[in-house]
Amino acid sequence: MRTHLNTLAVVRNLGILAHVDAGKTTVTERILYATGTTHKRGEVHDGTTVTDFDPQERDRGITIFAAAVSCAWDGHRINLIDTPGHVDFADEVERSLRVLDGAVAVFDAVAGVEPQSESVWRQADRHGVPRIAFVNKLDRAGADLDTAVASIRERLHPAPLVVQLPIGAEDGFRGVVDLVRMRALVWDDDGDGTVVEAPVPEELRAQAQRRRRLLEEAVAELHADALEEFCERSTLSPETLVTALHDVTRSGDGVVVLCGSAYRNRGVEPLLDAVVAYLPSPLDVPAVRGLRDGADEERPADPAAPFAALAFKVSATPTGRLTYLRVYSGTIEKGDTVLDAGARRTERIGRILRVRADRHAHVDRAVAGDIVAVVGLKSARAGATLCAPDAPLVLEPPGAAEPVVSVA
Ligand code: GDP
Repeated sequence: MRTHLNTLAVVRNLGILAHVDAGKTTVTERILYATGTTHKRGEVHDGTTVTDFDPQERDRGITIFAAAVSCAWDGHRINLIDTPGHVDFADEVERSLRVLDGAVAVFDAVAGVEPQSESVWRQADRHGVPRIAFVNKLDRAGADLDTAVASIRERLHPAPLVVQLPIGAEDGFRGVVDLVRMRALVWDDDGDGTVVEAPVPEELRAQAQRRRRLLEEAVAELHADALEEFCERSTLSPETLVTALHDVTRSGDGVVVLCGSAYRNRGVEPLLDAVVAYLPSPLDVPAVRGLRDGADEERPADPAAPFAALAFKVSATPTGRLTYLRVYSGTIEKGDTVLDAGARRTERIGRILRVRADRHAHVDRAVAGDIVAVVGLKSARAGATLCAPDAPLVLEPPGAAEPVVSVA
């Protein structure tokens, strides 16, 4: 059991939230590239981005259908769950927010908070999804981190905890000072996102120290241990800062802000480090609740508990009918019989796949905390709860289930 729980601690079920055009697709693409999931860099404008695998989606240039892709970073498994950014797909956004444990909210460094970023932020608030912010497009003319941060503070209201100071501006944006560890991260000019660590440049030292002070004060205001250390030593160690930023992210009182230019492949690696450091694992989030015979029941994120999962996406693909599941509790294996609790039908689990951008990996089982796709379910719809036949549970009312989406 200990092994299972250790495994769960390294899982991050992550979504990327943004206003259309802020750069969600590009950030996703660069994450897949940085994590080695893809080796060819897709570009949004030529229709080769790997997450946009639906032709209709490519044609329309918006992300319509949610898909989940697994990738690895620093010993962690990141399951990247696509959240449709288009207002016409509000139900799908809601459903994908349900299955996330944490999210990166992407903002345009010129436009700051835009109407859709605000509405999806509120939805994420309702679902209690912890978030970090990524201010993208810092290379654009007119880009300004401070103005974007001010709009986050004014329109979204959490205390922004800015952990980076940009080095260079607009076209000359070439790195950041990591204010937690007080070091410079500068990107190589090869466009591969390779980061070179360096001392903080002389001309930025005073400004970086001022910014770190502001970060320390903001964190001390929100976190008891940090406040104690701040009062005793009048500074905070990187370790205390990391722990406090993790806790504050979970409580939602503050939001860690990073910056970069996804298009230029600058800032994605530190963003992934922040996802691992600050966003929760399935073990850190409250147990899922559902209805069993009309009564409220809680299921812990424990592989040994009775099986319960939410089908959050169903796609007809050349591989077959893929049912994407967020497993909340228990374990399923190929060949198992599960109950579609709302429809009161049993179904048999065929192959279990971990979906990757380039290929699907077959796995023997899926456990609590996992995001997988299952082949072979005949009738379960998006919104259906699948559970152990002897421990029925309904996570979402049956009326909310949606038709299968056909993917050519
Ligand atoms: P989405 O609608 O949020 O998925 O946004 P996309 O990732 O499709 O990006 C929208 C447009 O902004 C595309 O033309 C991208 O090439 C461009 N873009 C994305 N990231 C950046 C960036 O960091 N800098 C600049 N200058 N353009 C970017």
